[in-house]
Amino acid sequence: MNIHEYQAKELLAKYGVPVPAGHAAMSVEEAVEAAKQLPGPLWVVKAQIHAGGRGKGKFKELGPDAKGGVRLAKSVDEVREHAAEMLGKTLVTVQTGDAGKEVQRLYITDGVDIAKEFYLALLVDRETGRVAVVASTEGGMDIETVAHDTPDRIHTITIDPATGLMPHHGRAVAAALGLTGDLAKQAAKVLAGLYAAFQGTDASQIEINPLAITEDNKLMVLDAKVGFDSNSMFRHKDLAELRDLTEEDPQEIEASKYDLAYIKLDGDIGCMVNGAGLAMATMDIIKLNGAEPANFLDVGGGANKEKVTAAFKIILADPSVKGILVNIFGGIMKCDIIADGIVAAAREVDLKVPLVVRLEGTNVQQGKDILANSGLPIVAANDLGDAAAKIVAEVKKAA
Ligand code: ADP
Ligand code: MG
Repeated sequence: MNIHEYQAKELLAKYGVPVPAGHAAMSVEEAVEAAKQLPGPLWVVKAQIHAGGRGKGKFKELGPDAKGGVRLAKSVDEVREHAAEMLGKTLVTVQTGDAGKEVQRLYITDGVDIAKEFYLALLVDRETGRVAVVASTEGGMDIETVAHDTPDRIHTITIDPATGLMPHHGRAVAAALGLTGDLAKQAAKVLAGLYAAFQGTDASQIEINPLAITEDNKLMVLDAKVGFDSNSMFRHKDLAELRDLTEEDPQEIEASKYDLAYIKLDGDIGCMVNGAGLAMATMDIIKLNGAEPANFLDVGGGANKEKVTAAFKIILADPSVKGILVNIFGGIMKCDIIADGIVAAAREVDLKVPLVVRLEGTNVQQGKDILANSGLPIVAANDLGDAAAKIVAEVKKAA
């Protein structure tokens, strides 16, 4: 689960991380009020969307010469003008895709005189199973480009969970950023705050880009991207409230209500599978047959009729779906019960696209009979390879 920059900064400030003062705004009036509460003489009006690259982004409705999603203002009037121009517009950045994101919130914050910009991130390193700190002197820009062109400028420091954060980690980060004296001490303090926030919130990533040195030699977090482990949200009710549903895919939100693990993808073959591993294998074999999956969907071990129906509806709500492949292994769930669920769901949603079903496991014959006798145009498949070949052929035939 991700949150907005302004929420991330409010959170980090509680852990003693230095951030410029600022206020969120949902309207032009609120933006003006927010600006009046800040001292000036420089303000920054920042689009709040769950995507980076806002500064270099472009608004769809404004011409190519218009300013991006992070704008400096030298007066409250200028803040008003920018807010009026940005709110309700669609911002396209390297991270939003071509569709862009509608800007519904702004962050009005103190403008800072920047001397230098660094990159500092904390994330879970899957290889070591530890929290890793990634630091680079090349901040402000696209870190992927830095990693690609000048990998020697990226330093990674892993933290042993048994010891937690130690003073030497702070020194290592300061050294990686080329900081000495008081700035090195500030870097260690920033790292301590970020690490405490990371641990305290069950974060999966905290990315600061840029971490700036100001003209008066202060380290300051100017941009923050924070994501949490969704599986831990049950013990962070206050953080769960920061979720902004307008930033999420509507079908993924619907799926989460039914406890279905659904992720939308770009292809046209909808998949309904039980078990994450089988779901991955199903997507692979669709690709092997020359097509692309429209989604990942794991209905879980205890899928019942309600879940299957909800899953069908979610898959079909995606207009790019041209066919559905159901691949279920009846272990805990028996195949006949699943077949009943599929038939009921297919009737309820008035299925118009081809449906291929592969059932295997307990009571498989009863399940196959139910599908065959349903009178619905369901194509039965014998195994996974057969199922994938059949759905790809059906979709091609229908096109
Ligand atoms: P994004 O990464 O989405 O483009 P940032 O918040 O990093 O958005 O802003 C882009 C750039 O704008 C930063 O690299 C920094 O140079 C400048 N900037 C951001 N916030 C401030 C601020 N409070 N004061 C001065 N400059 C800022
Ligand atoms: Mg940034």
